[in-house]
Amino acid sequence: MVGKFFEPVALRTCCHPAIIAAVTGPGRVERLQLILTRDGPTCVWCGRAIDTALVRATTEHVVPRLKGGPSWLENEVAACGRCNGRRGHRNLTEWADECELNGWSVDRARLVRVLESLEARIAAEGGQRRARPYITSQLRRLRRQLS
Ligand SMILES: [Zn+2]
Repeated sequence: MVGKFFEPVALRTCCHPAIIAAVTGPGRVERLQLILTRDGPTCVWCGRAIDTALVRATTEHVVPRLKGGPSWLENEVAACGRCNGRRGHRNLTEWADECELNGWSVDRARLVRVLESLEARIAAEGGQRRARPYITSQLRRLRRQLS
């Protein structure tokens, strides 16, 4: 299931085989590869390269499931296992601020890009009413911090 707002990308092997093997669940490998090809092979929160055997690659929802975030590629980013595990239920901007206090370089531009593509798909397809206010408020804060 590739979102229609992303250009089709050729699958390529960009991860160490051990990393790929560590990502489980139906379609997880393919989804991770698509995300890494789209965004680059780094953790969105700390910037560490995640296509190495030392840093475990995970995908996580930008808009949490609890907030109504859909299971679409437009709602997923790659994060290292450490950051994914520590975020918990914090919202995007709270967690981004916390990461920066730790001295990590959060890819806020990537978060904006992914949220914008999610917003565009929802605008085109309708639905996802629970996720909309979250997207709007998080985008506003992220854009303010980028400018
Ligand atoms: Zn990380």
